[in-house]
Amino acid sequence: MSYIILDRAALEKRAARTSDPRHRYYAALLNASAFDDYVRAIKGETPVYPRTFGKGRVPITPMQEYRYARDRRKWITEAFPTPSQKNTLKDFNEAFARDLDAASRRSPEERKQRLARASKTPKRITVTTTVFARNADVVLQVLDRANGQCEGCSQVAPFRRKSDNSPYLEVHHVVHLADGGEDTVDNALALCPNCHRRRHFGPADSAT
Ligand SMILES: [Zn+2]
Ligand SMILES: [Zn+2]
Repeated sequence: MSYIILDRAALEKRAARTSDPRHRYYAALLNASAFDDYVRAIKGETPVYPRTFGKGRVPITPMQEYRYARDRRKWITEAFPTPSQKNTLKDFNEAFARDLDAASRRSPEERKQRLARASKTPKRITVTTTVFARNADVVLQVLDRANGQCEGCSQVAPFRRKSDNSPYLEVHHVVHLADGGEDTVDNALALCPNCHRRRHFGPADSAT
């Protein structure tokens, strides 16, 4: 059983009948011991048992239970951010990284079962992003300097662009623009795709 209700209002409601899906989410809210447990439960990754709050522990009053749930309402907001709160490309990428992390903890068999139920059509969403308006002259000067050879590994560019048959190299900023680096020829390198990806995602000492 795996489903997510994206209606936050429904998640906050207490439902009396256990057949009501809302009951399941309310139970998850009360029973989870940490936010991550809660997210796994509402995503159907871990089972949610009927509400056992208070059972086997010190019995609590309805008012205590109410306060306990109320204090956890922030989990609902965290787990189901409204679109206006989470519509930047960065947020989107972070959410995808969390999904990847969750997927990595599933067994291949579990993933197969989930894939069998999954939608084959990806959702389209609109995000906002901030870009740097880079100087085209810097790009061209750096490509000229490289003269078709990667400035990381010194190999010839792996292929030529179909648009103009020029050697395919990517212009990389040594100090990233996001970190305050300058958009200058001195702060840029023309790299083959492998060297470029390695600079961004490889070990810190991967200078070439
Ligand atoms: Zn290279
Ligand atoms: Zn780069």
